Amino acid sequence: MRHTLLPFSPPLIGDEEIAEVVDTLRSDWITTGPKTKRFEEEFAAVVGAPASLAVNSCTAALHVALAALGIGQGDAVITTPMTFCSTVHVIEQVGAKPLLVDVEPDTLNIDPEGVRRVLQHVPASSRIKAILPVHLYGHPCNMDPLLDIAREFGFAIIEDAAHALPARYKGRIIGSPCDSASVKVLTCFSFYATKNLTTGEGGMLTGPPEFVDEARIWSLHGMSRDAWKRYGAEESWYYEVACPGFKYNLADIQAAIGLHQLRKLPDFHARRTEIVRQYNEAFSQCEEFQIPAKRAEVDHAWHLYVLRFNLDRMTISRNQFIEELKARNISSSVHFIPIHLHRYYRDRYGYKPYDFPVAHREFQRIVSLPVFPAMTDSDVQDVIEAVLDIARRHGKIAAASPSAARG
Ligand SMILES: *Cc1c(COP(=O)(O)O)cnc(C)c1O
Repeated sequence: MRHTLLPFSPPLIGDEEIAEVVDTLRSDWITTGPKTKRFEEEFAAVVGAPASLAVNSCTAALHVALAALGIGQGDAVITTPMTFCSTVHVIEQVGAKPLLVDVEPDTLNIDPEGVRRVLQHVPASSRIKAILPVHLYGHPCNMDPLLDIAREFGFAIIEDAAHALPARYKGRIIGSPCDSASVKVLTCFSFYATKNLTTGEGGMLTGPPEFVDEARIWSLHGMSRDAWKRYGAEESWYYEVACPGFKYNLADIQAAIGLHQLRKLPDFHARRTEIVRQYNEAFSQCEEFQIPAKRAEVDHAWHLYVLRFNLDRMTISRNQFIEELKARNISSSVHFIPIHLHRYYRDRYGYKPYDFPVAHREFQRIVSLPVFPAMTDSDVQDVIEAVLDIARRHGKIAAASPSAARG
């Protein structure tokens, strides 16, 4: 057993990031300026986006995406219960109503068939304006049927790509334009400390230039010019306020980190993929577990490795499993507590646990294991040994016939 606690998802910051931050601090521009501009451009090039806006979180990107699309009071947005709360909070914050649709049993992504079913039953007066799919754990959603629905009903699509860097759906990298030119698609990335690329806190919005321009205004006080242009040598002091915007800009200190993280992204992704390969090889043999889904048409970003328990083959619950991992010095987590189980949403919309049966059922049996680029092969082995040891001791097969116990 390990003697020190294996963390869940620490960042991997190198000397390049540190030197770039110091360079920024020694310059006379520390907030949104030339490095943020460069980070926006280099990020857009990596994901093939026509335009990009750096903001201080993915939550901010989602919020300004809704604002730029003019979604507000009395509107509705279709999304998933299987996500982090901020995906849904922003819908509430603009005064719109979230319409939750249950997830697919394999990927736990929003089920396009479920979206169709919901659309057959909503009153004609529902002002649905957009679908907000979440590429959960880094596995892209089934985008083609979602785009078909969006085109048919005139919805926009706002992708929560907090986990999906870098990920591909049918060869197309998430963040680049879809073939479906008639559908407005905006994509939101997160650079939070635990994410695949970090700036400490940060986010990026990508999409068609006209919406990204509009979002840029919303992201900085509704001002029609950003500060560094305003105070730059060739620009005047004048600005106009077009809307009551937010304060969501990313600072150059943060962009400095992002510039180097972006260069390391292919190596980070390769390491994540290798860790997942080792986990899959070890756990696919065990009847106690179900390994993560990966459909043939996607490239997975592997932000999270979510193992599922076959509870009928275990004598302990998921929560006890997490305690057992902790006792073996392995950190783990649960992604996510479904939205409809949270008190605010339960009270506001009267949700019952079984309103979204797949999300509710799968929530009972998911655990996220550590995956991070600095993880060594020996760390990975420690996790595998701990998980297999727990299965050996608390698996029903082992319990029923001790002679059949492995090892
Ligand atoms: C992390 C996360 C967010 C929020 O990202 P921030 O950059 O922290 O605002 C949104 N959605 C999902 C699915 C996330 O995991």
